[in-house]
Amino acid sequence: MTSTIGSTVLGFPRIGPNRELKRALERYWQSRIGEAELREVARTLRADTWRSLRDAGLDSVPGNTFSYYDQVLDTAVTFGAVPHRFAELGLNPLDTYFAMARGVESAPPLEMTKWFDTNYHYIVPEIGPDTTFRLSDRTAVDQCAEAAELGVTTRPVLVGPLTFLLLSKPVGGAAGSFRPLDKVDELVDAYAELLGELHRAGVEWVQLDEPAFTADRSQADLDALRAAYQRLGELDERPKILVASYFGELGDALGVLAAAPIEALGVDLVAGRRTVDQLPAVPGLRGKTLVAGLVDGRNIWRTDLDEALTTGATLLGLAGEVAVSSSCSLLHVPYDVDAETDLDPRVRSWLAFAAQKVDEVVILDRALHRGRDAVTEQLDDARRRITDRAGAELTRNDRVRARLDSLQPEHARRGDYADRLAAQRKSLRLPPLPTTTIGSFPQTTDVRKARAAVRSGSIDRATYEQRMRDEIDRVIRLQEDLGLDVLVHGEPERNDMVQYFAEHLEGFASTRHGWVQSYGSRCVRPPILYGDVARPEPMTAAWVTYAQQRTEKPVKGMLTGPVTILAWSFVRDDQPLSTTARQVALAIRDEVEDLENAGIRVIQVDEPALRELLPLRAAQHQDYLSWAVESFRLATSGVADSTQIHTHLCYSEFGDVINAIVELDADVTSIEAARSRMEVLDDLNAVGFARGVGPGVYDIHSPRVPEAGEVADLLRAALAAVPAERLWVNPDCGLKTRGYAEVEAALKNVISAAAAVRPAVG
Ligand code: GLN
Ligand code: ZN
Repeated sequence: MTSTIGSTVLGFPRIGPNRELKRALERYWQSRIGEAELREVARTLRADTWRSLRDAGLDSVPGNTFSYYDQVLDTAVTFGAVPHRFAELGLNPLDTYFAMARGVESAPPLEMTKWFDTNYHYIVPEIGPDTTFRLSDRTAVDQCAEAAELGVTTRPVLVGPLTFLLLSKPVGGAAGSFRPLDKVDELVDAYAELLGELHRAGVEWVQLDEPAFTADRSQADLDALRAAYQRLGELDERPKILVASYFGELGDALGVLAAAPIEALGVDLVAGRRTVDQLPAVPGLRGKTLVAGLVDGRNIWRTDLDEALTTGATLLGLAGEVAVSSSCSLLHVPYDVDAETDLDPRVRSWLAFAAQKVDEVVILDRALHRGRDAVTEQLDDARRRITDRAGAELTRNDRVRARLDSLQPEHARRGDYADRLAAQRKSLRLPPLPTTTIGSFPQTTDVRKARAAVRSGSIDRATYEQRMRDEIDRVIRLQEDLGLDVLVHGEPERNDMVQYFAEHLEGFASTRHGWVQSYGSRCVRPPILYGDVARPEPMTAAWVTYAQQRTEKPVKGMLTGPVTILAWSFVRDDQPLSTTARQVALAIRDEVEDLENAGIRVIQVDEPALRELLPLRAAQHQDYLSWAVESFRLATSGVADSTQIHTHLCYSEFGDVINAIVELDADVTSIEAARSRMEVLDDLNAVGFARGVGPGVYDIHSPRVPEAGEVADLLRAALAAVPAERLWVNPDCGLKTRGYAEVEAALKNVISAAAAVRPAVG
């Protein structure tokens, strides 16, 4: 047994290189396979991962990073935090677990929300005053044994007790003053029990993840952190403890953890770069292992190994051991770049997915501890790639750069709102409480098949375009029959609202197998933004103008905004995000102009991810929000007063970005609100928002068809907060994932609700 950690990574993807787990899960949920078969798929995935990490040369292999759904949910189950409504279903453990994640008829699921500033979603545990924590599941222990049988020693990884409680929500009905953190002592006792079992099973190291401390935390949270690790550290029977942090700097928690009686501390030196300067002044590290997160676990670029090595060298001597690691779990990147045989080989040579990142960690660790000579060839190879990328013409477009340099403040400023409003009234002549949708209509199997067929070449472009036009005809006719006021073309040509634009813009590449888990069995394939962004030709105008030719009613053009395009892509790391955002904004601006020139009078630029990219620490919010807002305005300010700009926001609590919503200066903002009963309107009023607003009145995330009476009640509630001349009527979000039957019924009710309320507002 060694007492050091050596080279390691904090976690690894688990969905399977070919999404084996996704397929198995979905088949299990459809009762097409049984539990034994699902467990077998999982066991094979775990074995393959452990072996490949060991064979790649890692000194310490993370264990227990497999999950059937989510690691936070796993932690809840490990410590018995199963709410009554699931426990009393009487299901077996696996189905109870899935019921918590996905709900069943009689028990709605736990909430799901974003894992820090990533696009991964975790299941939010519900904790109440009478939640009893006790060690209820021994998967973490069992998987160490499972790996040992294969000859691999693993270091089980668990969400730490503080992060677990800080991410939990109080169970409904708990006293207003109750916080899940109130239960920390009980939970730490349960962790202590698990550590004892791991110790008895011969486990040498355990990793407890505390990323919650890279966000702003109160003194009480820090005190709880100190107390918890004091208690765990003092246990007689326990493995050595690595507390891992990631996604940013630890701030005050750095000193707290360095002083705690634990053996190792993991820091993110990519997102939390400035930690390097803080470490020399931190007492308490000398007797510990510092796990240095030098390889970016969040992005897909090759590491500049020379630079990382220089950083690593400054750390030597600060701690008892310096172990090289990834900056966070590799869960957030795809498996293996070698699978991308269709990618431009030059771009591919600049990329590192999870497998390549493991290699980088191993090389760095060897270079740091045995000297560069031990890995000369690998370092040379890495350097060649970095140099090639830095000098590549492929990533530069001088026209784009010149245009960026010539931008003036007025490019991000529209005319006076009063003038715009007058001009738009005249041009659009809409009834009071105008009705519209957010853009997409249900994506039928036929539509998906047609898209796949043109991609594989089994139908030609002309046939494909005819099918899309047929679909647009159908969607326009349906909207006219329903009586909507501002129509859409329905977005049948779009696989995904970011991917579609990435495929039409220069500077982006798409992968074939680059799947990343988003939640449960759901994966996304983020495009790779590698170079200056330019728009070789119009991307959407043909579809939208076709739709406009089929109706007298205004058709709304539909675009994705720059912030959302960045948020859902892997973005170049060789220039500030703000610069990349401006480039994307200019491409969208050109599309907006083309739509306007083609006679489109209403244009929507969606920014559902505005909240998502918000930095974890408040001190950085202003800087982010100012470039985020500016890029939206750059995209939308090139139009005449009479052209109505809409935006759409969803997926979030809007509190932290509420001022930015005002600053976007869109003429109309549609915003998710059906579930929160219009509360967002008061928040908007409080910050002086005075533009058109369409709070969603139909929750599209549920298959339920709202009744007209219900929708009318929501509209009346909205009218209490917003004058009638500013209120729009629309669903919460796009209709893409729903079926036609429910959508037709729901929209019919939405429209009759609007008709019922209109007489009262004139
Ligand atoms: N226009 C997009 C749609 O309707 C918006 C999707 C979204 O907000 N996520 O699908
Ligand atoms: Zn939405």
